[in-house]
Amino acid sequence: MLLQTKHVQIDNICLVCHEEAESVFHSLVQCKAATLCWQIHNPNISTNETMEFAEWLERNLSGQPKQATAKIITLCWSIWRARNDLVWSNKSWNSMKIIAKAWEYLSQWTTAQEVMNPTLTEALAIKEVLSWAKEWTEKTTTTESDCLVVIQLIRSATSLRSRLGKVIMECRTLVRELNNVRLYFIKRFANMSAHELAHVSRMYPDRVFDWGSIPVNVQSCISNESLE
Ligand SMILES: [Zn+2]
Repeated sequence: MLLQTKHVQIDNICLVCHEEAESVFHSLVQCKAATLCWQIHNPNISTNETMEFAEWLERNLSGQPKQATAKIITLCWSIWRARNDLVWSNKSWNSMKIIAKAWEYLSQWTTAQEVMNPTLTEALAIKEVLSWAKEWTEKTTTTESDCLVVIQLIRSATSLRSRLGKVIMECRTLVRELNNVRLYFIKRFANMSAHELAHVSRMYPDRVFDWGSIPVNVQSCISNESLE
């Protein structure tokens, strides 16, 4: 507004507020529509001082827990998307909707990371088996997995800064604590019973079987494998 009243020509005027020059920082933080989103989300996030976007991001992300960091980044993404929708598709601006959209996306993404990551799922399963083995101290337990990556990670000293890395660390601790556990990699065709059992168990809420109630295809896998 100030620049316009002084008749200063702005080449790249912001297409949302039509008041100031468009920069990444302006678009995502200082444009009044964006500022409103930040104020609603967290009034402690400063939007007054003008700086480079990277600097602003660094200031607001440093020392923040993972979830708060994810929220700030996702809200930036949602604001950017809303700007595009307004400029290119003439969709109206609604700060509450922009925030809601960001959280919806973040929650879907987080769930997808956990559900669709087969390596993590396998690592969690091994950890579960190892914690059972802890209770059967009098027996030696053999754990087999057809996921080579997980077995190699547990045996290695590699540290990963992720949910998978955390589960691998927990598996290593369990293996170290228990001297009755053997961990092996097994090819999938030799692991059909476990594979089939995991597959059908989704249809059985209590996931408890005995030889009489076990699904037929699992039963035949076990018979085949015990013959080999
Ligand atoms: Zn603007």
